[in-house]
Amino acid sequence: MVMVMNLDLELVKQIEEICATRGVRLTPQRKTVFQLICASPKASSAYELLEQLKATEPQAKPPTVYRALDFLLEQGFIHRVESTNSFIQCCSCNAHKHYSHLLICDKCSNVIELQDDNLVALLASNAEKHGFTITNHVIESHGICQSCSSDNKE
Ligand SMILES: [Zn+2]
Ligand SMILES: [Zn+2]
Repeated sequence: MVMVMNLDLELVKQIEEICATRGVRLTPQRKTVFQLICASPKASSAYELLEQLKATEPQAKPPTVYRALDFLLEQGFIHRVESTNSFIQCCSCNAHKHYSHLLICDKCSNVIELQDDNLVALLASNAEKHGFTITNHVIESHGICQSCSSDNKE
């Protein structure tokens, strides 16, 4: 548990530094929403985030959360899981915008982020054969994660 807290603090420090470098403002609300996303082992919906945010900011409204999410997405700190309309922190916040392959567990909602440039290059070259230029990817796979499938065996 202590380790998780340390990790969160380190991540928050990391995004604080990135925001300072980029000259964008990490408001306390944006920071809290990011921390809430990091604290959850599964992907969080905007509704869940709003409920959690209300614990410290009772006056928080849906637009508060959506504005914070837009900012965090724009900066590449989080990813939207399109198929479940929820959010996870990026595994490499300091990287530039990238496409990730998300493995989504349908049992526990845990999301694993993979980055594979070869996969993205393959998709781009397949599309090119049809004269198609890809401007955005959603690469999501659904299934059962390792810990859920070992739970089943017991
Ligand atoms: Zn990422
Ligand atoms: Zn699972």
